[in-house]
Amino acid sequence: MHQFINGHYREGDGEEVKRINPATGEHAETIRYAAAKDVDKAISAAKQAFGPWSQATPGERSEAIRKLATELDRRAGQLAAIETAQTGKSIRMSTEFDVPGTVDNAYFFAGAARQLTGLAAGEYGAGGTSVIRREPIGVIASITPWNYPLQMAGWKILPAIAAGNTIVLKPSELTPGSTLVFAEAAAAAGIPDGVINIVTGTGRDVGEHLVTHPDVAMASFTGSTAVGRRIMELASRTAKRVHLELGGKAPFLVFDDADVEAAAHGAVAAAIINGGQDCTAATRAYVQTPLFDAFTARVAELMEQVIIGNPLDPDTDLGSLISHTHRDKVADFVERARREGAQVLAGGYAPGKELTAGAYYKPTLVISADQRSEIVQEEIFGPVLTALPFDRDDEGLALANDTTYGLAASAWTKDLGRSLRASQEIQAGCVWINDHIPIVSEMPHGGYKASGFGKEMSTYSLEEYTNLKHVILGQDLNAHKPWQDTVFRYKD
Ligand code: NAD
Repeated sequence: MHQFINGHYREGDGEEVKRINPATGEHAETIRYAAAKDVDKAISAAKQAFGPWSQATPGERSEAIRKLATELDRRAGQLAAIETAQTGKSIRMSTEFDVPGTVDNAYFFAGAARQLTGLAAGEYGAGGTSVIRREPIGVIASITPWNYPLQMAGWKILPAIAAGNTIVLKPSELTPGSTLVFAEAAAAAGIPDGVINIVTGTGRDVGEHLVTHPDVAMASFTGSTAVGRRIMELASRTAKRVHLELGGKAPFLVFDDADVEAAAHGAVAAAIINGGQDCTAATRAYVQTPLFDAFTARVAELMEQVIIGNPLDPDTDLGSLISHTHRDKVADFVERARREGAQVLAGGYAPGKELTAGAYYKPTLVISADQRSEIVQEEIFGPVLTALPFDRDDEGLALANDTTYGLAASAWTKDLGRSLRASQEIQAGCVWINDHIPIVSEMPHGGYKASGFGKEMSTYSLEEYTNLKHVILGQDLNAHKPWQDTVFRYKD
């Protein structure tokens, strides 16, 4: 059963579809999607649950989320297996990154639930004491992508419920499994029925119904920029708050004093992570001219060493991409770049032999592409890195910013001044110096420019899921208050 509504698994009344295992091309399971009436039931359950959950004390919510963290941890093996089966990512990624990251996030939000603080009370106007209340918003509609299904479920659900909201989440139609187990773990942890509901199906049917529903107070979306624009448009009809985590095209800036070996290793790991299907993955390397040849030669050499294949084999570095259609889309980007005169220094093809049935693609390094070309400007979402040279520091920084996206970036240098300048001037929600990829539960994640707005993780995310209310406690009980004279002079 592929819906989780009001604390229980349910069969959906929508379309029936077959899900394919992307690593083998074989039929994996049959899913029955939610129909509009299933979505309505989930929203109604979330609406019912909102009153008591929003009025629970922070301590009670914290304890429930702490138990959820323990339940998720108990299911670590099951969750990792599902994550790899549905996405094709290596089992090492699922086991060492996705699952522990989500468990850590849950423990973090168990603590953060007790940290909903505001300004100190004060007398900012004569005769009144101002108090700030931070209040949950209501029923949150969340929509997540397929690249990190479990982590994205955690990023959406945990801050929303920690702040006292209830939620209806639609995972990607390609990857519902781990999100459903997340909800099951929440029920086992004693989180009340209706607080977390999962509905599955396509964006056009289930997603749009969810976002436009009048009982939904906010739409929190992670996915492509194109769909993000559509969500904003749909949410505008009911003037809903939106939170958008969208695409990325992260630059990887290597200055001429950088350690080439560290930068090359960093580039390969950050370009192929999760099959390059990571919104913060390194996609555009800009390398100062003196290091360009050494850097690209080493990256090409390291890419050849990447072990690609069966995602369940613990020695595999790179599993399959999410689907055959997506793999072909990635391959087409590289083919078009080749036709336009770019050079492929590593990869650039789908491996044959025993891997032909799966959606595999070799780690790929492309040089000599034009800065304005699609392979440099558009999100490919595959294990493809472009590298271009630059001469002056300001030129490198300008190239790094020359994209519509602004999610993440890195700069590689031993020079403090260059580090500070890069961290100040690069327009992105996260800038790493001499590293690229690591994230922590305590720190915010979110975009600039077309990568969206709003923050995930950290206590900043609680601001997304709360309204601030200003309460003024009047101290002056007289019938005549002096400020009223401006409007209506007192006649005694
Ligand atoms: P997508 O935009 O195609 O789909 C994302 C989700 O939106 C899916 O659940 C899909 O069913 C749903 N959807 C599609 N059309 C919809 C519509 N009209 N109305 C409502 N919902 C709709 O993205 P994807 O291909 O699943 O994921 C890859 C994208 O996600 C990339 O662009 C990547 O950069 C982005 N991403 C961003 C972050 C971040 O934190 N910024 C994190 C992960 C992924």
